[in-house]
Amino acid sequence: MRPSRPLPRQQTVFCHFCGKPYPAGRGICPVCKAREKTAQAAPTLRVVNIEKGMPPVEEARTLMNAAIAKGRKDGVRVLKIIHGYGSSGVGGALRIELRKMLATKRAAGAISEWIPGEEFSTLSAEGAALLRQFPKLRTDADMGRKNQGMTLVVL
Ligand SMILES: [Zn+2]
Repeated sequence: MRPSRPLPRQQTVFCHFCGKPYPAGRGICPVCKAREKTAQAAPTLRVVNIEKGMPPVEEARTLMNAAIAKGRKDGVRVLKIIHGYGSSGVGGALRIELRKMLATKRAAGAISEWIPGEEFSTLSAEGAALLRQFPKLRTDADMGRKNQGMTLVVL
């Protein structure tokens, strides 16, 4: 005789309102009748402002690495890294250094792709490819604006 299969363990959720546990899947708390909160779908795009606070390059690298790790963990598909621009000063240095770092990561397979803000357009091959993959980004405020102050990272 084959051993009987164990019963599936009943999942329990805790009411977000009154805190009482109840079996998952009911959709509504039997105690206070609060509706069960459904898990929020991860957003396609997350904006990460690294320029804010004018960090030195080393710190900016750390911030971008953390944002990439967190975005991946949260199921985000694309990061918009705001680093600023300029021929000199903090913004310019961050743009150059962070893009160098992204090129290295791309080559190592640590990210899928990166697209300079100025290429975020239907007129650019890499921009068009990105928009085909993520049509939602067509409505982004920076689409077609040649914004050099940011870079898109596909996780
Ligand atoms: Zn409740």
